[in-house]
Amino acid sequence: MKIAVLALQGAFAEHARALELLGAEAYEIRQLKDFTTQKWDGLVIPGGESTVMGKLLDDLGLSEPIADALRDGLPVLGTCAGLILLSKSILRHNQALADTVSQKEYYFPVLDATVQRNAYGRQLGSFQVVEKFRTTKGEVPIPMVFIRGPIIAEVGASVEILARVYDRVVAVRQGAVMATAFHPELTDNLTVHQEFIANIKQHHQVNK
Ligand code: GLN
Repeated sequence: MKIAVLALQGAFAEHARALELLGAEAYEIRQLKDFTTQKWDGLVIPGGESTVMGKLLDDLGLSEPIADALRDGLPVLGTCAGLILLSKSILRHNQALADTVSQKEYYFPVLDATVQRNAYGRQLGSFQVVEKFRTTKGEVPIPMVFIRGPIIAEVGASVEILARVYDRVVAVRQGAVMATAFHPELTDNLTVHQEFIANIKQHHQVNK
């Protein structure tokens, strides 16, 4: 199984390591040809700063080929800024932390969700909790690292909620799309990556 890991910003090496520990082959995508010269089973969009990553994607000519692949159903895991880039809409006004950075309304609108960036305010900008995460085999407690993460304010009817923290939705799945507001790659727990690989396999079966 070949998984592309967008390597423009953030903890892409940790994502690649987690996937390789689970037996997948992970390839870092730094430029257009890294993405277009192979056929992928999955894609990871890591955390970082969604505005910066969006701009880099545009500048490198990667936005369109990735958008096309996602539209065609390439399974994807987006974490933190990755979740923001996958969401259909972004709430602009944030009382807790005024955020005036202008941003395209969306990049890859494959997840029927509305997110709010930097939504935990200054006090709770970065924190770690252990909370239940819904897997195909039931719920398991996993460590979740938040770093100025977004909240998922609204989801559409076809979006499955996988985890909540402080009553807020922090992990979701919609068909081939999985996304978390936290950073699973920054812990030793492989549950989220394992579920992503399971989702890729299931998706291949569905498409056969
Ligand atoms: N605050 C970042 C954003 O809005 C996300 C932070 C992260 O990915 N850890 O894009």
